[in-house]
Amino acid sequence: MSTGPVADELRSLIKQTEEQVAYFQELGVSGIAVEAVLTIDTPKQPRSERAVRQTSAVPPTAERESLFAPSTPKGAPAETTPGIPGKPPLSFFPQDDLFGDVRPPAEEISRSGESVEQIWADIGDCIRCPLHQGRTHIVHTEGNRNARLMFVGEAPGADEDMQARPFVGRAGQLLTKIIESIGFKREEVLIGNINRCRPPGNRAPTPDEVAMCKPFLLREIASVRPEVIVVLGNTAMKNLLEVKEGITKLRGIFQNYQGIKIMPTFHPAYLLRDPSKKRETWEDLKKVRDYLDSTAKRQT
Ligand code: URA
Repeated sequence: MSTGPVADELRSLIKQTEEQVAYFQELGVSGIAVEAVLTIDTPKQPRSERAVRQTSAVPPTAERESLFAPSTPKGAPAETTPGIPGKPPLSFFPQDDLFGDVRPPAEEISRSGESVEQIWADIGDCIRCPLHQGRTHIVHTEGNRNARLMFVGEAPGADEDMQARPFVGRAGQLLTKIIESIGFKREEVLIGNINRCRPPGNRAPTPDEVAMCKPFLLREIASVRPEVIVVLGNTAMKNLLEVKEGITKLRGIFQNYQGIKIMPTFHPAYLLRDPSKKRETWEDLKKVRDYLDSTAKRQT
């Protein structure tokens, strides 16, 4: 096997290409000259390491493909004081470099000590905003209370409203595959929404509706304190980060909130409408995976 910097660079490019091809295969994209890529001589170890990560965390390729194929377009509250007890108001600090280190770091938050159950008890049978009138269920955040990684969407849709679980419809199935593509199981991460009740006709929640519901999500974030939050889509990103820029501008660039990395990317429902955007989503998620790989593992 050849040695030297050029050969190293070539092997690195081949590895990246292999990863890209594997992702596209998972998404059901066809027509890629896979053999031409994979037959080039590459060191055994990096490839087998990747294989171990993927096989330990994701179902077989055939099963993945069936769900991941490109699609065609088509009561009273117990308490009314949201916010994190003893914490300064939550605000986000967009930053413009890859590692989120351009602006001075804000105080890093540690876990609040509040339990998710306490937060849900405060939410109660919520009637704080008009969305309660049309809901079947409140859809709370679900998943690992010790998660290193969290996903935040906009608000429940019809399937979520019926099942009282976030991201269980078609977009949710794609989200599950995206989670698995970076080596996590769905139950290992935390999944929530800015708003917990379904807006009529799946419209975007109003600023008032967001203002009522978001503090509870922020309390959950402080309770679990994930290392990275992937925020899904323009509406969720703007409502969480309070930024003016759109998702097309900020996606793929780590933002920082008090030591928590925030990665904006496209919403899976948008990917169902425009599968070509899966490529950029993959680039964003790879940054998340690489960051989490680079930090010490927490017990999950
Ligand atoms: N879209 C969202 O933003 N959240 C869900 O839970 C489902 C669809």
